[in-house]
Amino acid sequence: MSGKKTEKGPREAGTKNALDKHFKELRCLYDIASITGAPDISLHDRFLKIVNMLARAFQYPGIASARITINGNEFKTENYRNTGHKISADIIVQGTRAGTVEIDYIKTPPKTDNDLFSKEERLMLDAVAERLGAITEHRQAEEALKESEEKFSVAFRSSPYAMAITTQKDGRFIEVNDSHIRVTGYTREETIGRTSTELNAWVNPKDRRRVVKILKEKGNADKEEVQFRTKSGKTYTGQFSAEKINIGGEPCLISVSVDITEQKQSQEILQTVSHDSPLGIYIMQDEKLQYTNPQFQKITGYGQIELLDRELLSLVAIEDSDVVRSSTAFTLQEESPYPCEYRILNKNGQVKWVMQTVSPIRYGGHEAILGNLMDITERKYLERKVIEYEELSKMKSDLLATVSHELRTPLSTIKGYSTMILDYFSRLSSDETKDYLISIDNSTDRLAKLVDNLLDTSRMEAGLLKLDKSPTNISQLIRIVAAEASIRAGHHKIITQLSNRLPRLSIDVKRIRQVLDNLIDNAIKYSPQGTEVLISAKKSGRELLISINDQGAGIPAEELTSIFDRMYRIEQRLSSGVDGMGLGLYICQGLVEAHGGRIWAESTVGQGSIIQFTLPIASAVKRKIKR
Ligand code: ADP
Repeated sequence: MSGKKTEKGPREAGTKNALDKHFKELRCLYDIASITGAPDISLHDRFLKIVNMLARAFQYPGIASARITINGNEFKTENYRNTGHKISADIIVQGTRAGTVEIDYIKTPPKTDNDLFSKEERLMLDAVAERLGAITEHRQAEEALKESEEKFSVAFRSSPYAMAITTQKDGRFIEVNDSHIRVTGYTREETIGRTSTELNAWVNPKDRRRVVKILKEKGNADKEEVQFRTKSGKTYTGQFSAEKINIGGEPCLISVSVDITEQKQSQEILQTVSHDSPLGIYIMQDEKLQYTNPQFQKITGYGQIELLDRELLSLVAIEDSDVVRSSTAFTLQEESPYPCEYRILNKNGQVKWVMQTVSPIRYGGHEAILGNLMDITERKYLERKVIEYEELSKMKSDLLATVSHELRTPLSTIKGYSTMILDYFSRLSSDETKDYLISIDNSTDRLAKLVDNLLDTSRMEAGLLKLDKSPTNISQLIRIVAAEASIRAGHHKIITQLSNRLPRLSIDVKRIRQVLDNLIDNAIKYSPQGTEVLISAKKSGRELLISINDQGAGIPAEELTSIFDRMYRIEQRLSSGVDGMGLGLYICQGLVEAHGGRIWAESTVGQGSIIQFTLPIASAVKRKIKR
């Protein structure tokens, strides 16, 4: 029996074999499971252990080799060789093939009736591959978590902002970072286990209630502005944010508070300075306004919205846009301020003078230009007034000098001859007395003319010149004026050349007569005796053109326009003894222009001059003539 008992029959042996095989598989799976669950073994070591174990689980362990290839890493038994006698299974991680596990017999195994690997072995390898996939997946998730925990921990510890973890239940501090310790002044030991209220951290209990309410309603707080108190009693403005987290199953709050006291102060200073500044301030990017302060808006007359994105140059007077461009460019290149003065056309069409300096700044993370403008309109107005006043004073003293000089000559003639007549009356012949009286008479005329000219000049400049117009036969007027001039200028030949049927003009006869007298007297004055003075008149379009032509010395080209300026006289003539104050042509110009006409001079030096003026032919007068 015992012999029988020890001797195993073929059926029994087959069963034992099968049992052995299963046992080996189970053992292998168990070992793998225990390796998988073992703590403190790296994934690398786990794979190495598993690969070695795996080979032993197969039917012919002596010739079995194994290899695991996963995510580019290879783990294999020392004897591993890739022979044709193999079985393999894919390792799937998160739904994709991440590697393979292979068993290779390094020698041809003993002949078997069936396949090289049994069905059970295949199933086992599949189970192992699945297990390896699960290990990898788990490990990857663990690593990711660890990595994020590490990152969080680093961020928490090294944050420049005060961070704390408190319990949600009673608000006790569980953890604080170094910045929290630095900012609050409380050590870690003083903080942990206590609440912010116990640390007297809230300056306004209202702030705390508000934050608690927000956290309850929204689950988080985002940049709430609150007042905190430190251990030393100093208060600061903090921007408080908090999120809910679970730590070890306990609902907690992680909070961060940023001290924005300085930022707030500088913002307030900037706001106050910019808002109350008497200077117009703007910030410009790509030539477009991005910020303007109230004073800038006041100067330009436009509102903040109207100015936003508007080009600064669109507000600048066209004549000044180059100055603004170049001064801005210069300042930016040279990095030294180059103030410039320019005109702004404001919304109401008024001109505002401003003085501007610019400097480069960064705004919203980009390069920008900060401009300051001072309204100097008043100053410019005063400057102009000062210049005008200086000009006026100069003119007055010039006028006084000329007037006194011009008055003295005829006055001394009058005084001289009247004294002579009075002193020597009985001794003078009647011819002598007559000559003296003629001189007195002429000088009186000259004086009267001077005074008239001065009065006319002041009237014109004060805008008080009034014309008393009436329809006038111009040909007749010219003839009369010429005839009288012939009597005055005995040694010149006064000729008239008038077109037929000249239209009647609506003019102030007295004033046009004054113009003609003046021009003819000049022609006589500035041309040698015996020469001709030609007065001509003709129609030219809608105007009448009157010319006074002489054969005198002429007027240099560069002085053809200046002779119409007030008190302008050609230098050479000043010493040539011909008297005058340089007011005649100035008055003529004023009178002609008051009539709506123009006056100008043409001349060939050495041959003579032509002074011409036009008078408009009024349509009403023309119709009158037709009727
Ligand atoms: P004035 O009192 O000096 O004549 P006007 O205003 O009449 O002043 O003339 C200004 C200046 O123009 C004169 O001083 C003279 O030099 C020049 N001028 C005016 N008319 C003539 C002319 N017909 N020929 C040459 N020079 C002239």
